[in-house]
Amino acid sequence: ATPIGLLVGTGRGAQLGILIRGPHVLEDTRKIDTVLLDKTGTVTEGKLAVTDTLALDGCDDRELLRLAGAVESGSEHPIARAIVTAASEAGPVPTATGFTSAAGGGVRASVEDSLVVAGRISWLEENGVQLSESELGLLHGVQERGATAILMAIDGRLAGIISLRDTVKAGSARAIARLKELGLRPILLTGDNAAVAAIVAAEVGIAPEDVFADVLPAGKADTVRKLQAVGSLVAMVGDGVNDAPALAQADLGIAMGSGTDVAIEAADLTIMGNDLAQVAQSIELSRGTLRTIK
Ligand code: ADP
Ligand code: MG
Repeated sequence: ATPIGLLVGTGRGAQLGILIRGPHVLEDTRKIDTVLLDKTGTVTEGKLAVTDTLALDGCDDRELLRLAGAVESGSEHPIARAIVTAASEAGPVPTATGFTSAAGGGVRASVEDSLVVAGRISWLEENGVQLSESELGLLHGVQERGATAILMAIDGRLAGIISLRDTVKAGSARAIARLKELGLRPILLTGDNAAVAAIVAAEVGIAPEDVFADVLPAGKADTVRKLQAVGSLVAMVGDGVNDAPALAQADLGIAMGSGTDVAIEAADLTIMGNDLAQVAQSIELSRGTLRTIK
């Protein structure tokens, strides 16, 4: 039988916009000591905007954005939405065919007569595109300015870099401070580059040693496993397809209500308000609930 306090907690959670998969989830929530937070869409708004384009020899900014818009039309990622928006504002966007994507990596498609690959460096390498020393220098320059940098290759050669920016959610810093007051260790976990991750972490009060950047989706789940192996009880908070393996692996998976269906299905708990304050509330709820049934 389910203790009545857990049922009450589940009902109270629903009133707060916290959807709990089953009453037992609150028991797991109570014991958590570490909270892994995905960056994009969890700590940040996940509403990116293109801030700059850097076209290399043989390409121009307009063409770069036009082809990027086409290849990203097949993706639901916040990066893709931002690029499609910017491209559509600049002019007509052609149709892409043969679209493929890799979660936490990037996208690939044929556009007109070209093969277009967009994403992180490892995704370009997987597609046979190697960066020269000077191209790597350009990438690092963009990243050091705090931008999320998307590499664009056309027919096997780097054609340019698109810079995007996101904003930290208004309530993130306060919510993370509350998690710390509750005795939890917040950790930032992202597929984005280290410079962006460091800037976001500083803004919300996460210690530099608790930032894991350039982490692929499988790496997110591995990070959870490694923390569990040293005895941590881990909650993972995320919204993307790339977060699903880590949400499933965690002792407690928490999805943003605005997240993808895959993330919500993998999670034990869904936060409808998309506000990190609700993560702290869930912990408090579980602790309060379990106190009343003792
Ligand atoms: P986060 O962990 O911040 O939510 P993701 O794991 O979703 O980020 O993505 C990690 C990286 O993979 C991005 O910063 C980007 O370089 C690349 N990427 C993911 N999806 C796309 C896409 N649709 N187009 C281009 N690059 C992408
Ligand atoms: Mg995300």
